[in-house]
Amino acid sequence: MDMSTLIQRPSINSPSTLSAGQIQSLLEMTNRDEIDALSREARWMTLLHCGCTVYFRGIIEFSNICNCDCQYCGIRRSNGDVARYQLTQGEILRQARWCADRGFGSVVLQSGERRDPRFVDFVADVVRAIKRETRSAILPDGLGITLCVGEQSRESYRRFFDAGAHRYLLRIETSSPRLFQRWHPAGQTFDNRRHCLDHLRAIGFQVGTGVMIGAPWQTTADLAADVAFFREMDVDMIGMGPYIPHHAAPLAAVGVDSPAVRLRRTLLAIAAVRLVLRDVNIAATTALQTLAPLGRERGLAFGANVIMPQVTPASCRKNYTLYDAKPCDDETDSGYQKALESRIRGLGRTVGRHQWGDSPRVFHRKALLRSA
Ligand code: SAH
Repeated sequence: MDMSTLIQRPSINSPSTLSAGQIQSLLEMTNRDEIDALSREARWMTLLHCGCTVYFRGIIEFSNICNCDCQYCGIRRSNGDVARYQLTQGEILRQARWCADRGFGSVVLQSGERRDPRFVDFVADVVRAIKRETRSAILPDGLGITLCVGEQSRESYRRFFDAGAHRYLLRIETSSPRLFQRWHPAGQTFDNRRHCLDHLRAIGFQVGTGVMIGAPWQTTADLAADVAFFREMDVDMIGMGPYIPHHAAPLAAVGVDSPAVRLRRTLLAIAAVRLVLRDVNIAATTALQTLAPLGRERGLAFGANVIMPQVTPASCRKNYTLYDAKPCDDETDSGYQKALESRIRGLGRTVGRHQWGDSPRVFHRKALLRSA
C-alpha cells in the first residue's frame, strides 16, 4: 500500500480529508511493516499536535445501578446476578482527593444510567463538593471533572455543567443507526444519543465520544464511518475500546473476531483517529488492557495520550463488570503507579501533573473562532 496517499502531513490544525474508503484501508492493515509505519506516523502526529505529555484521569465508577438494558453490557438492568452498589459522596470525595494529591489533575465520574431527580441532584452535589474540596495553590480551580453518566435531559446536563463539570463522555457506540438498534433495546435510539451530544456541546462541555470495536456485525466500513462521524461532530475527546463479551449479556451469544484481531483493530482505529482528527485527546482504555496486559501502553504507541487508572474502591471494582475479565488491579497502589509511569517514560513520553490536560482541539477551536 502506498502510505504517502494515506498520510497527509498537515499545514494547519484542521482535520484531514481522508475519505471513508481510505480510513477503511488503514483499519484493514495486516502487514507488520505497514502497521509499524502507521503507528510511527500516529506518534508523530501526537507529538506534533498534543506534545509528549500523557494525562492521567482517575476513573471513579461510583455506581453500577443502571436502568438501561444495552445488549452487550454486564451491568444491564436485567442482569440479576450483579451486586449493586452506590458510593456515598464521602467515599467519592476520598478517591478524588487521592487523585488530586497524586497530581492527576482530572477525574472521570462514571456510573450506570439513572435519570431520576435524586440521582441528578446527587451527581451535581458531588461535582460541587469535588470542586470545592480539591482547590489548591497548584490547582486553583480544583480537579477537572469529566462526567460519564449516559443520556440525560438537556436540563440535567446544564445542572452538571453549572455545578463545575467541564467535560462529558458519551459514546455513540456506533455511527450506524442500524447497528445501534441491534445492540440496544427498543426505546434507546441513535437519534437521542446524537441529540445528547449536540446538547452537551451547546451547553459548553468539552465533548468526548467513541465506539466499541469488534462488536457483533460491525464491519471495517462501519468503523471507518465512525471515524468520519467523529470528524463531522468535531469532538474534543475520543474513548474507544475493544468489545469484550459479558457472559450474561445477550450479545455474548453472537460470534466475534478473535481477541487478537479486536486488539489490532482497536490500535489501528486509535491511529486512524489520530491521523484524521489530529489534536484531540484519545484515551487508551481499560478494555485494551483486558485484551493485553500492556494494552494501554500499546494504545499510547498508536496515538493515545490519556490513561484512566481505575480508582474505584477495591470492594466495588469487582462489581463494575461491563464485560468479562475486566482487570481489577489496584491502580492506587504506589508500586503499580510507579511501574506504569516508568513504562510511559520508557515510551519517550512524560506524565502531566497538576493540570487538567484539556485537548489542544479546545484551544484551537476557540482561537479559530476568535480570529474569524
Ligand atoms: N452508562 C454510562 C457509562 C457506563 S458504560 C454510559 O452509557 O455512558 C461505559 C462504556 O462501556 C459504554 O459506553 C460502552 O462503550 C462500554 N462497554 C459496555 N459494555 C461493554 C462490553 N461488553 N465490551 C466493551 N465495552 C463495553
